[in-house]
Amino acid sequence: MIQNAGSEPTMSDSTTFVPGDYNAVCDECGFEFKASQLRKRWDGYRVCPKDWEPRHPQEFLRAKPETTRVPWARPEGADAFVASPYDLYTEDGETMTTEDGAPITV
Ligand SMILES: [Zn+2]
Repeated sequence: MIQNAGSEPTMSDSTTFVPGDYNAVCDECGFEFKASQLRKRWDGYRVCPKDWEPRHPQEFLRAKPETTRVPWARPEGADAFVASPYDLYTEDGETMTTEDGAPITV
């Protein structure tokens, strides 16, 4: 036996004449209802009471703007190169050189 839950409208409501009302189809389930029974949902659909739902509150959350920069900063200074007095030597005691013949220093 199929029971109708509470006062939930059924398809048979669409077959009865109600002055000033007309039949309409629920955009969600596709069943026929009287137009006065359909409610407009947040997404613009006209739905029956069973398919109506409020918009989820999480969709109204607003994120706090994130501060990603530091409070203050300076521009990077110019590079300072220091000459090293130490030459590299091979195992034989010879000075290591580049392809150009310049000694390699560290
Ligand atoms: Zn429906």
